[in-house]
Amino acid sequence: MTYPLHCACRLVLPQYATYKEKIRSRLESFRAKVETRNETEFRLSWAFGWLSISERNDHIMIEGGAADATGLARIKDLLATAFKLYAKIDAPQIVWTGDHAHDPELAPFRLMVVEKVTDLNARIKRVRLHGSDLSRFEEFGNMHVRLLLPCLAVPNPVWPVAGPDGLTKWPDPDRKPISRVYTIRAIDTVASWVDIDVVTHGTTGAGSAWALSAKPGDQVGMFGPLGRPINRNAQHYIIGADETGLPALARLLEILPETATGLACIEVATQADVQAIENRTKIDVEWLFRRDAPAGTSLALSDRLIAETWRNDLDCFGWFAAEDAAARRLRTHWRQDLGLSRDQTLAAAYWRRGTTGLMAG
Ligand SMILES: Cc1cc2nc3c(=O)[nH]c(=O)nc-3n(C[C@H](O)[C@H](O)[C@H](O)COP(=O)(O)OP(=O)(O)OC[C@H]3O[C@@H](n4cnc5c(N)ncnc54)[C@H](O)[C@@H]3O)c2cc1C
Repeated sequence: MTYPLHCACRLVLPQYATYKEKIRSRLESFRAKVETRNETEFRLSWAFGWLSISERNDHIMIEGGAADATGLARIKDLLATAFKLYAKIDAPQIVWTGDHAHDPELAPFRLMVVEKVTDLNARIKRVRLHGSDLSRFEEFGNMHVRLLLPCLAVPNPVWPVAGPDGLTKWPDPDRKPISRVYTIRAIDTVASWVDIDVVTHGTTGAGSAWALSAKPGDQVGMFGPLGRPINRNAQHYIIGADETGLPALARLLEILPETATGLACIEVATQADVQAIENRTKIDVEWLFRRDAPAGTSLALSDRLIAETWRNDLDCFGWFAAEDAAARRLRTHWRQDLGLSRDQTLAAAYWRRGTTGLMAG
């Protein structure tokens, strides 16, 4: 594989030793191949590109290469985000040199237009968004996006551009849209659309309010893809979701190996909220109804998965996405009670009762 595009950045980081392991671990967690890892140098590669961080006498040299502009933007994003998260003590100012260094276009951003809105059931709106050049949203093994939404306070947002570090820069911070994380339920890169299934829960939440009033022609920003790829090669899966995790769970059942076995448990309000899911696997699908209980108040879903036997005789993977309390309960069971590792399980809080914009970033 040749990587014709290149980026570089030189940083002076006096405290680098105190956080370098966190940076390495974060970058590796994106299913990277480790090419070099020694005291002073660290090099990773993916199908789309490579990056390296090397310690010189008085500075750190960061470099990356990629096959195309999308890949290069991804490399810059991975590196700049890792340093932004963990190098706060040194407050580094990343300014890229090399290919596409001063490109104001923010690679992960697309301006989308609502094409149609369908009522999937009483609580869920399927919103089809049309945009151009959506291929990156099929890459990198991720399936979530950050929707950038107009709201009452900012009905005409100003959309983001790329800063010198390749990350998001807001040209007018007073006219920032509201951001909420959603899953791409379906994507067609040829016809250039994505479907997002939005759970509506009144007009207090900006995301829910937007979906309730969305109509063809409305503009919305889309940023991504987000998240980490999950293990798609296990033999046995124990997975669960409420309505917010249902789009991701349904996509998993479409892409996991046909031979995969296990249990997929889904919590919805009533029988009328059950959806048809294309399940290509041998994983049993079970629906749980919370009936009159408000969303996020029942632990029946996490309890059901806790009761399911973890198959140590098979390569087993646990995945869960729902309200925070349920996710925490299951994560504690998997990680602490069963002693399973991060590579074997992912129990994510997709929302938290009483909290606005969890994970909105
Ligand atoms: C990786 C990821 C993927 C996600 N994918 C989807 C998806 O495909 N579809 C989807 O609908 N959601 C999805 N979510 C969850 C969604 O981001 C949150 O529900 C978000 O809080 C909704 O924003 P909001 O503006 O409507 O409400 P907020 O402003 O965030 O919250 C306002 C109030 O509403 C409550 N609230 C938030 N969500 C719900 C809910 N679902 N039911 C009842 N009350 C709620 C909050 O607790 C708060 O009290 C995902 C989250 C993550 C992290």
